[in-house]
Amino acid sequence: MRVEDYYNRRAETMSREELERLKLERLKWTVRHAYENVVFYREAMRERGITPDDVRTLDDLRKLPFTDKETLRATYPFGLLAVPKSELVEIHMTSGTTGTPTVGLYTTNDIEVWAEVMARSLYMSGLRKEDVFQITPSFGLFTGGFGFYYGARKIGAFIVPTGAGNSRRQIQLMRDLGTTMISAVVSYVLRLTETAYEMGVDPARDTQVRKGVFGSEMWTEEMRQRIAKAWDMDVYDIYGFTELCGPGVANDCYLHDGLHLWEDHFLVEVIDPKTGEPVGPEEKGELVFTTLTKEAMPLIRYRSRDISRVYDARVCDCGRTHLRIERITGRIDDMVKVRGVAIWPSAVESILMKFPELGIEYQITLTREKGLDVMRLTAELASPEVPEARRRELAERIRREIAENLMVDPVVELVNPMTLPRQEVGKAKRVIDMRS
Ligand SMILES: [Zn+2]
Repeated sequence: MRVEDYYNRRAETMSREELERLKLERLKWTVRHAYENVVFYREAMRERGITPDDVRTLDDLRKLPFTDKETLRATYPFGLLAVPKSELVEIHMTSGTTGTPTVGLYTTNDIEVWAEVMARSLYMSGLRKEDVFQITPSFGLFTGGFGFYYGARKIGAFIVPTGAGNSRRQIQLMRDLGTTMISAVVSYVLRLTETAYEMGVDPARDTQVRKGVFGSEMWTEEMRQRIAKAWDMDVYDIYGFTELCGPGVANDCYLHDGLHLWEDHFLVEVIDPKTGEPVGPEEKGELVFTTLTKEAMPLIRYRSRDISRVYDARVCDCGRTHLRIERITGRIDDMVKVRGVAIWPSAVESILMKFPELGIEYQITLTREKGLDVMRLTAELASPEVPEARRRELAERIRREIAENLMVDPVVELVNPMTLPRQEVGKAKRVIDMRS
């Protein structure tokens, strides 16, 4: 229990009234800042016949137009810049594997805010000055490495900035230096787990790593628990993306029931992705963000394409007053349709992880055979010593479980451990759609 323990008590536990007042004041500032300094926003608002004076309440946000990834691509790299270029101190961007990259631009104050929200998130995840903190996301244009670094510097932890890849060395360093906490992209901690076993190292027994903070990819509660067990560690979920600042927008507290979103810096709405209208209380939808303190690149009503919901409860038992969002269950782009049925890979993962006979790697392949969609599910076994008859029986149980829960009848294939391709760096590719 660490109820009384906060990185920034004043900010993290301020009253709802004060938080709402602060949000409105900062929203007004952001809208005016964007209107006065960014041609794109000025024109978009003029088209709707509104000026910054029309934003008098938080609900007035809805009068403003949405922005999205396309907006950022069309204005790449400096089209949304709201300060003189000489004020810029840093840039980060997405990999651009799916088109023009989207950028995040920072002034000195933007970096300071990022460090602050990262420090709150990391402290909430258990990071303390006494910790040896190994940062495995890459340092570079990707926001991961530097985000964790800035936050950990504020806390004063001993940082081991390994960056991505070189998994055997990562494990070796954990043992040499006595690493107590790690951060990683979710699929990379899976890689580290396997590498440790390959080296004859049991992460739970042979390392001192007891805390971990992971994010940047969709994962399920079942996966979180598996990681926690393999390392005997407390596992936290961190959320954010390049366009907002990077990681540190939201993080779960020790109760692991939703992620606290730092509302003094980010304003969230949940909309129906089809109509753009707000959904009802606690309903799932697309998260839309407005930055409240960003100087270099303010974002207004940015459609994240991430699906989640916002908890109604305004206060958490941990004492923090910032509202909570549910773990991201998927991105709009992740959803696939199989014979007309919408399937989220996270739903498949939730089911697979309930089978202790399975490992952690799986792949969904979609093909079209004789004009019909076929979903093929390849999952790795936890151990190679499973006799053929037992495999068939297990595959059949998995098939039934998925067919009953997801309304799609998959072809299930079980393979030996380490059969599916692994990625050292970058995000895991779990769905392969070969239909088009
Ligand atoms: Zn809490």
